[in-house]
Amino acid sequence: MPTGDPPLTLADLREIPLERLKGVGPALEKRLADMELHNVLDLLQHYPRRWVDRTKKIDIADLAVGEEATVFAEVRTIHGRRTRQGRALVEAVVHDGSSMLTITFFNQAWREKQLSVGTEASFFGKLDVYRGKRQMTNPVVDVVGRAGVADEKTGVIVPVYPQSGKAEVFTWQLRALVSDALAKCRARGFADPLDEAILDRDDLVDRNTALRAIHRPESMGELGAAKNRLIFDEFLRMQVGLVARKRAFEAEESGIRHKVDGPLVDAFIAGLPFELTGDQQHSLDEITRDLAGPAPMHRLLQGDVGSGKTVVALAALLVAVQGGYQGAFMAPTEVLAEQHHLGSLRLLEGLTVPAEGSLLADRPVGVALLTNRTTAAERRRIAAGLDAGEIDILVGTHALLYGDAKFSRLGLAVVDEQHRFGVEQRSLLRGKGDQPDVLVMTATPIPRTAAMLVYGDLDKSELRELPPGRTPIQTTLVDPSPLAHAAAWDALRAEVAAGHQAYVVCPLVEDRGRVEAKAATAEYERLQAEELHDLRVGLLHGQMPSKEKEAVMRAYRAGELDVLVATTVIEVGVDVPNATVMVVEDADRFGLSQLHQLRGRVGRGGDRSYCFLFADPSTEDGQLRLDAMAASTDGFALAEKDLEIRGSGEVFGERQSGFSDLKLGRIPRDEETVMQARRVAEEILDGDPDLGSHAQLRDEVHDLLGDAVDFLFKS
Ligand code: ADP
Ligand code: MG
Repeated sequence: MPTGDPPLTLADLREIPLERLKGVGPALEKRLADMELHNVLDLLQHYPRRWVDRTKKIDIADLAVGEEATVFAEVRTIHGRRTRQGRALVEAVVHDGSSMLTITFFNQAWREKQLSVGTEASFFGKLDVYRGKRQMTNPVVDVVGRAGVADEKTGVIVPVYPQSGKAEVFTWQLRALVSDALAKCRARGFADPLDEAILDRDDLVDRNTALRAIHRPESMGELGAAKNRLIFDEFLRMQVGLVARKRAFEAEESGIRHKVDGPLVDAFIAGLPFELTGDQQHSLDEITRDLAGPAPMHRLLQGDVGSGKTVVALAALLVAVQGGYQGAFMAPTEVLAEQHHLGSLRLLEGLTVPAEGSLLADRPVGVALLTNRTTAAERRRIAAGLDAGEIDILVGTHALLYGDAKFSRLGLAVVDEQHRFGVEQRSLLRGKGDQPDVLVMTATPIPRTAAMLVYGDLDKSELRELPPGRTPIQTTLVDPSPLAHAAAWDALRAEVAAGHQAYVVCPLVEDRGRVEAKAATAEYERLQAEELHDLRVGLLHGQMPSKEKEAVMRAYRAGELDVLVATTVIEVGVDVPNATVMVVEDADRFGLSQLHQLRGRVGRGGDRSYCFLFADPSTEDGQLRLDAMAASTDGFALAEKDLEIRGSGEVFGERQSGFSDLKLGRIPRDEETVMQARRVAEEILDGDPDLGSHAQLRDEVHDLLGDAVDFLFKS
């Protein structure tokens, strides 16, 4: 019967320094700190990277030449030297009780230190015969035991820890430290933030079992259950934070109750040269419902490139305007802001609102553009216009947030491209008006599970259906042969001859900025001298002065240029329906969603369009991306694929989204667990909105999300 001290929470574990563990003196403590292991919590959450199953081993005597297998053996001799070519060569002889085997390592001089005589390790590799001797070359090695080191008894399944060669902490040391930590915690045990009822129903093992079994599993089944529980916890913490935040938003009554019935939106929609698609109408209805309600809107509008988000956004802005409010429309780049500005002017042409102070007079809907490059005089004019309420919609880059733009009645902010727009900006924006509604748009579709993690606190609308009349884009992978390139350039020239336009996107350069600009300039000059010598070619890159960029874009839009050679500045949103050819050079260097965005620059009119991906992929991932591009034009499908290839940390960036807390959890693999965690989070918050009776869970969530969940602690 345990008495006295209660079970240990994660916070308790964090308080226990590693020096309390056997064998940890200042030197080792320092090396552990270099690996970001500062306390017992860090150590226990430093999960094994692999588990070696001893039952899968084979006796050396039974190994067949050419066969791949794992053997467990003890190092009898080991020595390193250099070959005549100067390569490091380490040779070890190992024995497993059945027979001897020679292990040869090339270019791995450090093995000599790792595999000192007496070390027991597993070796996975292919048996071959060299000069009559049976041997393995460069096998995968996992150290299992160390001669003369106590507490090294491992079970049938041996955990292998991520170790750091640099910090000189080895897997066997970590194993010993974890053993000691588990032993020291045994009396008090680990506290569980979840009720037994939930654990039973959801078939989850308790934390005590899980934390022990992840490090010391006695069977693969036990290990699976342990992983499952720990992954569940990672997702649960995130979901509790997100669901709680979403509910806090919804409970607010301080938002604007927009007047949603009015002539302006109707006139706008009636004046469009096309009918809204079903998805556009549906999304607009969802947005309108939010705008009418008392809670400030936090909605994400997802739609593939060209799905018609801009029209929906403008209609939403007009809802605000017709009730006498102002709207902000923000884009991630100046080129895009400029384009939204032009697009808005075009689509809003002829629409009027009642003029201030007069019942009879009307004035046009006021639209202005504000970016970093706006002149001081223009800024003053805009400030006055905002103040007087004559500017209804202010279009700009995200600089709108930081600048001194003062809306007199900001009612709705539309933010294009959430991927470059963080949580911090979201709250800045809310500081700009009383409680403006926020609509975030993204053209990078996000798989459902991922959206539940990254935007789990937002409502979502989706445009899945493309406007009618689009012809699919034909995508060709172009191999590096001169013949293949020539064919692609010929196709481009044929399209130009038919009155269309083209883009050529230059290779991505690691260091962005200057270097990339230089590369693009060089390619522009080369193309003008060679393949495209008789065409009208323009250049666009990020280092050009804004005036020049605008001038080039204007000329291209007006059809005064046939080809635009550009860096990825054209990635997002550039809309020239007459462009039908997209050439991407070194396409394997680009990410999948980036390629999809680039391809989305063509196929925007009714004409057949072509995408040529120049590539000589040197990596497997590169090839996978290109194959995916050739196989599909569906942004949602490609987004799933991207996640599969790259993993969530890469796709979403670690920090903002809380993915850094995912030590074991992975999407899309753990999709079901995410759903389960969401369901449990909702259920817990249903019964206990401020987690008053789930103090431990609340602390863990707060620990993870910090100030972002302060509202949980308010009441
Ligand atoms: P997104 O911003 O989602 O990439 P846009 O709003 O720029 O897409 O729309 C792409 C093109 O399709 C624009 O030229 C737009 O005028 C046109 N468009 C939008 N909605 C429709 C519709 N319902 N029917 C036909 N064309 C549409
Ligand atoms: Mg509202």
